[in-house]
Amino acid sequence: MYWQPEYECIGRQRLEQIQLERLQSTLNRVSRNVPFYRKKFEDLDIDPYDLGCLEDVRRLPFTTKDDLRDNYPYGLFAVPLREVVRLQATSGTTGKPIVVGYTRSDINKWSDLVARVLVAGGVTKDDVVQIAHNYGLFTGGFGFHYGAERIGASVIPSSGGNPRRQVTIMQDYKTTALVSTPSYALYLADVMDEMGVSPNALNLKYGLFGGETWSEAMRQEIQQRLNIMATDDYGISEVMGPGISGECAQRRGLHVNEDHFLVEIVDPETLAPRPLGEPGEMVITTLAKEAFPLIRYRTGDLTRLIDEPCACGRTSRRMDRVLGRSDDMLIIQGINVFPSQIEALLLDVEGVEPHYQIVVEREAALDKATVLVEAPQALFTDRIREAQQTIQALKKKLDTELGISFEVKLVEGKSLERSQGKAVRVVDKRTF
Ligand code: ZN
Repeated sequence: MYWQPEYECIGRQRLEQIQLERLQSTLNRVSRNVPFYRKKFEDLDIDPYDLGCLEDVRRLPFTTKDDLRDNYPYGLFAVPLREVVRLQATSGTTGKPIVVGYTRSDINKWSDLVARVLVAGGVTKDDVVQIAHNYGLFTGGFGFHYGAERIGASVIPSSGGNPRRQVTIMQDYKTTALVSTPSYALYLADVMDEMGVSPNALNLKYGLFGGETWSEAMRQEIQQRLNIMATDDYGISEVMGPGISGECAQRRGLHVNEDHFLVEIVDPETLAPRPLGEPGEMVITTLAKEAFPLIRYRTGDLTRLIDEPCACGRTSRRMDRVLGRSDDMLIIQGINVFPSQIEALLLDVEGVEPHYQIVVEREAALDKATVLVEAPQALFTDRIREAQQTIQALKKKLDTELGISFEVKLVEGKSLERSQGKAVRVVDKRTF
């Protein structure tokens, strides 16, 4: 089942032709209408009319989150405000928010792209879709709302908050698909337990989750506790909101809507392109947006592209689940590593808890890295040998998989620092 098979199942050659045409017209539009881009192109001596192939995108300048903040609120709009029919914004918890605008045509395309994601996740016009993302300036609520209406599903705009009410709505309105963040879905599962509501008594079949990074283990837990198929979706407000990519029933990476978004993966340090399939920072150029086009926007999200055929029949490249943020990247002993990579390896070893802390120090100009992992109490008293084996297994795993030699220390449960309920994963004591 597809929403727009003519694009979702398109051949690569035809796709790249469409991408190039749309890229050229986007560049023309921004160089004409956005002084910020016109100046950047002039400074770099780039003629936007002289772009022969898709690889030429690498000659173009990057756009950063700071650029968006510096042009707050409307500086990067490529159309006059009278053509903008909707404004959304990022939360702006750190610094100024970023305001994004949509023309009527942008809203129309956005609805179709979200519809693709919903259909890939199992939703049809016969479904009852409960949207528990926040409505308002945040793109999650309205983005999914318009997409689900476009399909013809019955939409419940329950928005966030009040979990007991969400569960009651699910029961009474016979919700078949839940759209939210993955952590909120788990929270709802807890509330169902408290309320004595069994997921088997509900009509839920699908869960479409995004808006934060989550692990495969978390997916398994959600699927089992809510008795649903859980798919991952990706969208960031600066670029459009939901609808950039989403998983199909195979659940092996998120199909990117490549006819609308040109995705590159670059080394977050050097900004050099990474070979296809290698992880790095995702950079997105919008190909069809009118009001708020972005050229080579550095998302800060780390992922890799999967260029293998998918059993669902969609031909697009997929992106892997987001592995972390480039701001989280650590360089230890000269090797780039993300806390999420270390976490995944720790969870593979039996007998340790999913609470850990990475401490990096410098001794005689060398990096010394230690992983503190919480372990059950019994390991410290009567199973000392087992504790030694666990430490050795962890050290070996980290060394072979990451090429970094870590010290490993087991610590008692709940002894690692938590800040406002959130764990402190990295303590970097090095001074540079
Ligand atoms: Zn697929």
